[in-house]
Amino acid sequence: MDTPLSHNPFAFYIERLRHAGGALGLSEIECGALEKPDTIIERDIPLTRDDGTRETLRAYRVQFNNLRGPYKGGIRFHPAADLDEVKALAAAMAIKCAVIGIPFGGGKGGVQFNPKEYSAAEIERVARGFVRAMGDTLGVDRDIPAPDLYTTSAIMGYMLDEYEKMNKHSEPGMITGKPIVLGGSLGRDRATAQGGVYVLEHMIDTLELDRSHLRVAVQGFGNAGFHAARILHALGYTIVGLSDSKGSLIGVQGLDPLRVQKAKQEYGTVAGLYCPDGVCDEVQMEKDGVSIGANEDLLAMDCDILIPAAFDNQITGENAPRINAKIILELANGPTTPEADAILKRRDIKVIPDVLGNAGGVAVSYFEWVQNKQGYYWTEEEVLSRLKPIMVAAFQSVWDTGMEKHVTMRDAAFLLGVERLATALRARGTA
Ligand code: NAD
Repeated sequence: MDTPLSHNPFAFYIERLRHAGGALGLSEIECGALEKPDTIIERDIPLTRDDGTRETLRAYRVQFNNLRGPYKGGIRFHPAADLDEVKALAAAMAIKCAVIGIPFGGGKGGVQFNPKEYSAAEIERVARGFVRAMGDTLGVDRDIPAPDLYTTSAIMGYMLDEYEKMNKHSEPGMITGKPIVLGGSLGRDRATAQGGVYVLEHMIDTLELDRSHLRVAVQGFGNAGFHAARILHALGYTIVGLSDSKGSLIGVQGLDPLRVQKAKQEYGTVAGLYCPDGVCDEVQMEKDGVSIGANEDLLAMDCDILIPAAFDNQITGENAPRINAKIILELANGPTTPEADAILKRRDIKVIPDVLGNAGGVAVSYFEWVQNKQGYYWTEEEVLSRLKPIMVAAFQSVWDTGMEKHVTMRDAAFLLGVERLATALRARGTA
């Protein structure tokens, strides 16, 4: 399947769907049904700032399809969260849930603003405002949000609280990724990274690579990136690069993610480990073989495994020719542009696509929802022991499809997801 090129993320979804539909023999009506979101909700959230001034933030929720179960997908707080981005992410959620075989559809939400410029109290008011604006469309069997870029477990807690106050009953399963004390699942914080690591490890075994020599670089040091670096470090991989929005830390002899996290918490950036308060300890850096660079430097550094875990559109047509990794594990959603994807394919760099690589997050959200419905809670060991077989089976299906059809893992995952959505569509009949 040739990869078509488009800059608009939602237009790119449609192009890929059309290609997959052709390869799978879907009818025009079936393709049409899979390309339109069921519902697009756009509302304004009024916000009173701490200084008493008022402003209005634009909020979106896209319920893409619920063919395989209730709409499911995160809410991001980000200036780039426009309707096309949210639509594309909602479609990807429908594909992702189908690829890993969990009974959810696809949805996504966003509030267009920069949370870094707002206080914690203002962010709580935005979270509550989102639920007041959209609450009538959410629900445990209807549409279930979760955290995403710059939204946290605490924010899910405020959203649940607002929803339950509005509806005057307890309904913890209406949102996932919430604090444990409110019905969150143990293991949810590490789930996205852990799921990606299960897939990566299985791929390394399949390719018969010697994992003791593998060097890893991780772009983004938030929930997904930190846990990925931490888990891989504990498994014996050498973490040679870590970055955040302020820059990158490159350490060819290996970095300890726990020490880096402590420094980030204290000084606000990964570089804080060697440059607390902006002044660098050059002697220690030289001793440890560490250098500090722009966040872009991390993508092109010498490593075996590159993990984009920050943001969309980071691996581009411009930097893809300079990437040195042999395997890319996409923990971020949409980190690779279509142009870059074509270059990586030509260079035979193996890409574990986002709809597989980061699906551990939604898998454990599914477990959280199941536990909320049962009112019975599992240990972290139980959660992880249920996550692993789901991720390994999904990897195997994607890998086998790729081998059989001679396509990349991204195309294979898309084919699998579309096929499963089309099967659900047909099972619902046509009348
Ligand atoms: P987060 O807000 O916890 O962390 C984002 C990190 O990326 C921060 O450390 C930030 O400094 C860094 N960053 C931003 N721009 C950067 C840049 N240009 N270069 C380097 N670093 C940069 O977010 P998260 O929850 O870890 O999500 C990260 C990505 O993973 C997003 O694409 C999200 O959609 C995806 N994802 C997350 C989950 C989850 O469970 N958290 C699940 C599925 C997908």
